[in-house]
Amino acid sequence: MSSASAPIIPTHSGAPDRFAAAGGNDRSSTPPYPPNPSDPLVPKDAGAAASDVSAPAPSTKYVMHEYKSFDDMGLHDEILRGIYSFGFEKPSPVQEKAIVPMIAGHDLLAQAQSGTGKTGTFVIGGISRIDHTKNEVQMVVISPTRELAEQTAAVAKGIGSYLGIRTHTATGGPPVNTDIDVISQSKMKPPHVPHVLLVTPGRFYDLLNRKVLSPNTIKVLVLDEADQMLEARFREQVHCILSLGWPATTQVALLSATMTPDVVQVAKSILRNPVEILLEPEEVSLEGIKQWFVEVPREDHKLDTLCDLYDHLSIQQATIFVNTRQKAEWLADQMKRRGFDLNYIHGDMDVGERKFRMTEFRNGKCRVLISTDLLARGIDVQQISIVINYELPLQRENYIHRIGRSGRFGRKGASINLITERERRAQEEIETHYEKKILPLPMDLKIY
Ligand code: AMP
Repeated sequence: MSSASAPIIPTHSGAPDRFAAAGGNDRSSTPPYPPNPSDPLVPKDAGAAASDVSAPAPSTKYVMHEYKSFDDMGLHDEILRGIYSFGFEKPSPVQEKAIVPMIAGHDLLAQAQSGTGKTGTFVIGGISRIDHTKNEVQMVVISPTRELAEQTAAVAKGIGSYLGIRTHTATGGPPVNTDIDVISQSKMKPPHVPHVLLVTPGRFYDLLNRKVLSPNTIKVLVLDEADQMLEARFREQVHCILSLGWPATTQVALLSATMTPDVVQVAKSILRNPVEILLEPEEVSLEGIKQWFVEVPREDHKLDTLCDLYDHLSIQQATIFVNTRQKAEWLADQMKRRGFDLNYIHGDMDVGERKFRMTEFRNGKCRVLISTDLLARGIDVQQISIVINYELPLQRENYIHRIGRSGRFGRKGASINLITERERRAQEEIETHYEKKILPLPMDLKIY
């Protein structure tokens, strides 16, 4: 991981902007708060919710309040309908705390266990700030993978459906001209510009750079899986995006299941007086997910062990994690030769094929999916009840992300590590870090 000491804040000396100001925390322009009811951005009853938080301006400290019902949050009626018809009845803990300050224009730094409703948080908070009558991109969510971007698009579309929120997913892979057409609407009359863009960092930068998009219309910028965004692979891209000159009015939300102290430090440097919802590392995790291991004498025994476990895996749905593309392909091939029905996915696959395999997995046609860490983050398939670590992850943090694919939103989940003696050490480190004992898999295993 890059060192946090390398500044992510652009050091260019251009016009004053959102992130240049962030270095000095000079909040010259703040979103209106308490909300002006005549502003179409402001939910009808925002005042009601706002009065509960004693009406600070976003530049002042927000007093945390937990809203136990969506009805109490002062949301647009249409968004409320969207939420309920999407199947949410009560807010999750992170939603109780974070939606209202987002609507009020506060920056947000939120860490919550995977599967606890982070997406709903920033989708509800963000689309509440959109003026759906305008033909402008007003909210952008940056995700590390196309799959996560598409999943988030589905949530935004669902919850925003009654309000008429339009979404578009712009990620690497498909030709950029498709995105340009959709965003610039050169071929559409009247124009229907998407309000919410779900992007991966490279494509987003490209669109900004080509001036297809302007930061000036973007009121809400969300970095999902923020710790990954600020690490080596994406850090430079995020840096470039932030250096393009952002208005002081853009609100930024960073959300992630894990945030190392380094990343929190960097995140704080790009946020202004954020409302913080942070948990200690040991709290982020693992409740509700049973963690087991099977030790095998040699690496090549893992395959037989996995075959023995297969019946359990395919009861509901399972993901098997490996560390490399080659291993994913090899393992899928070996399992298929032995007559097991499964598939694999990794980042170097053709985009259409990746999409197809994810769809098959989501709709249950494929019950067991082998994956690299491409799917470790954020991917939500409620039926996943078991995660197998065929190999322990190379980055310790990915352990928690991987096993978080099971046990979504309070459901039961289980993870099984297949380890050799050599990997026992790495597993012990995971146990120590998360203060959680990983137990040997019981012989009479009954997984649900
Ligand atoms: P996330 O952590 O955003 O990936 O969400 C995990 C899962 O919980 C997803 O399947 C969501 O649809 C679901 N979920 C999120 N918020 C709620 C809620 N308030 N009520 C019921 N399900 C929810």
